[in-house]
Amino acid sequence: MFSLETANIQTAITNAKALHPKVKMIEFGKYEVMGSKGNIYTVRCYRQFGEKIVECNCATRPGVACKHGMAAVSLHIAMAAQRGH
Ligand SMILES: [Zn+2]
Repeated sequence: MFSLETANIQTAITNAKALHPKVKMIEFGKYEVMGSKGNIYTVRCYRQFGEKIVECNCATRPGVACKHGMAAVSLHIAMAAQRGH
């Protein structure tokens, strides 16, 4: 789990662009992201205390942005814009 406000997301964005993982929306705020070995991670995006929180069930340390999270975030932001959030 990491916060878009406090985590260093630049490396994760670069990694996400390199991996270009498939992202599938389960529902608004909940996504399935395919990892580099074909494994599926579940990513949740939500707001808590005014921070944008991203939760991924991969092994990345808490507080560190992962590429799955950032891949899901880019879809989440697009969906949120469509919904007018
Ligand atoms: Zn992850």
